[in-house]
Amino acid sequence: MTGNRTFTMIKPSAISAGHAGNILAMIEKAGFRLLALKLIHLTRQQAGQFYAEHSAKGFYEDLTRFMSSGPIIAAILEKENAVAEFRKLIGATDPSKAEPGTVRNLYGISITENAVHGSDADLTAEREGSFFFSQLERV
Ligand code: ATP
Ligand code: MG
Repeated sequence: MTGNRTFTMIKPSAISAGHAGNILAMIEKAGFRLLALKLIHLTRQQAGQFYAEHSAKGFYEDLTRFMSSGPIIAAILEKENAVAEFRKLIGATDPSKAEPGTVRNLYGISITENAVHGSDADLTAEREGSFFFSQLERV
């Protein structure tokens, strides 16, 4: 059975460029319901903790520096088959390879500054949602 929740972040570059409203509108238009939402400026250490699974990769330092360079918007989203449906909406990790009309194609600048994050599995979505939101902050 596939779950109906996923977790997303709108990354600092997309927020500083003023695309947060457009991206949230795309998400809602695609049929996702907002279950939790916040704007927060992560410390370098918090960004490192969130991306701990990538700590051995060459891009980890750049990624965590970037993700703590300005505020992000974190959200828990609901839709049937949410994880896969959301990854379809955002497109490939590298914006230059993302399908036309996807969020990363429209608003991504580079692989690191690719506008949004989307969970890669149901369990990850649950863990990532819990990283940002308490029980009180969710629907
Ligand atoms: P996300 O988890 O952000 O939704 P993803 O699952 O498509 O994206 P991951 O492999 O989980 O990609 O990588 C997490 C993030 O690390 C990517 O969104 C991207 O910003 C960055 N990243 C991944 N691969 C590279 C790379 N080769 N060079 C630079 N940054 C990268
Ligand atoms: Mg990922």
